[in-house]
Amino acid sequence: MARYTEAVCRICRRENTKLFLKGDRCYASKCAFERRAHAPGQHGSRRGKLSEYGLQLREKQKVKRSYGLLEKQFRALFEKAERQKGITGANLLILLERRLDNIVYRLGFASSRSQARQLVCHGHFLVNDRKVDIPSFLVKSGDTVALKEKSRKIAFIQESLETVARRGTPSWLELEKAAFQGRVKELPAREELGLQVSEQLIVEYYSK
Ligand code: SF4
Repeated sequence: MARYTEAVCRICRRENTKLFLKGDRCYASKCAFERRAHAPGQHGSRRGKLSEYGLQLREKQKVKRSYGLLEKQFRALFEKAERQKGITGANLLILLERRLDNIVYRLGFASSRSQARQLVCHGHFLVNDRKVDIPSFLVKSGDTVALKEKSRKIAFIQESLETVARRGTPSWLELEKAAFQGRVKELPAREELGLQVSEQLIVEYYSK
């Protein structure tokens, strides 16, 4: 599976925002963005004014990288969002949130989406009692996502669950920590996502 392999902190610095790609480190003073809040590279500290296209591109890149997707996967999801009823930008964000790797991260089983993706790929999770090892699997309202019994002793999953309160569980998800499982109470509305994203810029980017 193709994936992004560069230093991830550079992505936050490039996108000029914290994307929380590295788990616990993102909340510590070691966070690279806290220490050097300018773009990477020799001329990174000189951020010029962005053109309209530049703004659209940066917003698209920010969201795509935040969820750890490659361009082909992101574009395919955008096209799916376009085919759905409603507002394309909101549809896109909701589809991203419905990905199984994101749900595992949001429920607190992993400290970052990349860690969540790895756990899903290694078959540690059940969706409605059936093993699912596809990170892009889209959960539905009412679905239950549970950690397999034999995976419950994995130390870093337990540590991550201990610190989940720091991030908080979204209102549309319900975590039963003692049972190592969570439920999708209902699919979220755009306002419930709490994402600081201008999704309309992404729609404009792909509409050219
Ligand atoms: Fe981004 Fe986390 Fe790195 Fe900070 S520590 S720059 S939030 S990935």
